[in-house]
Amino acid sequence: MTKTDPESHKSFGLVKSEKEGGLTDTFGRKHNYLRISLTERCNLRCTYCMPADGVQLSPKSHIMTYEEIYTIAKKFVDMGVTKIRLTGGEPLIRKDTSRIIEKLASLPIQLTLTTNGVIVDKFIDLFKKHQITTLNISLDSLDAQKNKTITRRSYFDKVYQNILLLIKEGIQVKINCVLIKGFNDAEIIDFINLSKNLPVHVRFIEFMPFDGNRWNLEKLVSLEQILSRVQSSFKKEDIIKLEDAPNDTTKSYQIQGYQGTFAIISSVSNPFCDSCNRIRLTANGQLKNCLFSSKESDILTPLRAGESITPIIQKAIQSKLKIRSGMDTLDKFKKTETHANNRSMITIGG
Ligand code: SAM
Ligand code: SF4
Repeated sequence: MTKTDPESHKSFGLVKSEKEGGLTDTFGRKHNYLRISLTERCNLRCTYCMPADGVQLSPKSHIMTYEEIYTIAKKFVDMGVTKIRLTGGEPLIRKDTSRIIEKLASLPIQLTLTTNGVIVDKFIDLFKKHQITTLNISLDSLDAQKNKTITRRSYFDKVYQNILLLIKEGIQVKINCVLIKGFNDAEIIDFINLSKNLPVHVRFIEFMPFDGNRWNLEKLVSLEQILSRVQSSFKKEDIIKLEDAPNDTTKSYQIQGYQGTFAIISSVSNPFCDSCNRIRLTANGQLKNCLFSSKESDILTPLRAGESITPIIQKAIQSKLKIRSGMDTLDKFKKTETHANNRSMITIGG
């Protein structure tokens, strides 16, 4: 028994009962998908994610260590989590990320990551060794100059080459593209055409409001608007609606004859909260039961004090609201005060 795992002596029977009820909320949603942010830092500065003047970083001592990440992840797995996504900030820039991946890969889970792709080439062997077979890579424009504008850095060529490399190495690539009206919405069809000869899954993400990202409803490119562009560019019979898995946040499509697919994540215009199975852990050890919730549950302090974190996790799950932490209508998005208290995305982990 270690100091950071006060419950490791508990019987298998108790672990089993935690598994059965621990992560089911009051609406019957089972939370089996944990996203862990490894860092608040990043080698890019995407305007929709990080405020222009940066974010107040947590002191290093407040960031979860490698051991703490494993202990918490293990607890969640004992309670029923079957999938873990590592995110950030940029998860690959943390010095001990390889070690964290090695350790988490020993758990009975599907392990994956969301990355900006800048240094992903250095990790391909590690991913293959641990059966990490799909990755989400962020890419918001196919134009190098526009990419520089949105990321405030010049890494377009590197990221694009890395996407090709990953595909060549047999890793499935999902491209995350946040659409912002008047900035990159003219590229919707270019992105879909990328899937003509490449087996990529392009995911258009509706721009969401977070602290300091200058969101407003006029910048939103909605599910309806995306589909309307697709319908005016391709023949109706060539647009194939694919089946979505029960907990998918995406509505997936394929153009007839194309190798890859595309999808829309409509968190703002058409939330998918009914089937939500996600819970998030920030790099400084705070549990967020919803991306839109400004309330957090500190599990790192009690863990460090040698206390049980199980009741805190259960309480966080039980207090989850039905839709977007109360932002249940589009009108509520218009009021800045309903989302200004939330962290910037870079410190949550998307
Ligand atoms: N650095 C990694 C990356 O960019 O892929 C992982 C962290 S990033 C916060 C995770 C995802 O959140 C990215 O796909 C990013 O595009 C998305 N994201 C960030 N801010 C967003 C916003 N305001 N609206 C929608 N998606 C956002
Ligand atoms: Fe960094 Fe990812 Fe946020 Fe861009 S979206 S600033 S790459 S964490």
